[in-house]
Amino acid sequence: MESSTLDASGFDGSLLWMERELMLILDLYKRSARKGKPGGRPLRATWMACAFALAATACHPENTAPSKPLDAAFIRLSPAEVAALPTAVRFDAPMGTESGAFTYNAQRFRVNRHLGDDLNGIGGWNSDLGDPVYASGVGKVIYAGWVGPGWGNMVILAHQVPDASAPMGYRVYQTIYAHLDEILTQCDAVLPRGKQLGTVGTANGRYLAHLHFEVRESLSVYPGIGYADAPLDRVPPEEFLKRYRGKGGDLLLPGMRE
Ligand SMILES: [Zn+2]
Repeated sequence: MESSTLDASGFDGSLLWMERELMLILDLYKRSARKGKPGGRPLRATWMACAFALAATACHPENTAPSKPLDAAFIRLSPAEVAALPTAVRFDAPMGTESGAFTYNAQRFRVNRHLGDDLNGIGGWNSDLGDPVYASGVGKVIYAGWVGPGWGNMVILAHQVPDASAPMGYRVYQTIYAHLDEILTQCDAVLPRGKQLGTVGTANGRYLAHLHFEVRESLSVYPGIGYADAPLDRVPPEEFLKRYRGKGGDLLLPGMRE
């Protein structure tokens, strides 16, 4: 569904787009400064430049190094942030019911080099536009913002998932929710499993409405790419949900536990 919008390398072009926007803003700034208008446009241009720079780092504006160009790929959760992540033992489908009823997967993980699942409402086309998107597991919002035309709005949750075989006794997984129409949460919020975090969107009219859902095992705070030859740090979302669905100890309605 999205593959036509991406180049052969799978790069979604968001950073290029941002760079182009910044060049345009700088040009606008120079031209209006030449006309001798110190207020108005230059001020707006400066504000917009700041907004774009912040969009690149979403929840971590303090990481924008002033003297060097920023490479968002190297923004990582600190050990203290990792230690403070909520423990998630159960994950559910992010759309439809907890088990994903009323949805279908239009483009599965690794089909066409895809790094996630494209979840749709069973009505097809844009019938799912505005449908709720839920936190798959309890997690902390580490990214919430507009990435660029390829991704649209994205929310990233980070979760600490217990695993006796891991050196620390847990692994850090991220769940990624992209192309959102609306973001209904903010950076640093801790969301319980099942809490609505946004609505299904089209990335501003670029695709038919759907949710691009990914699971990553990663400490990087980075929108990244949606297509690649290798799976990178992505985990098959369906397998992940199968493994953690219906696990006890984190039930929404504990009174109903048998
Ligand atoms: Zn996708």
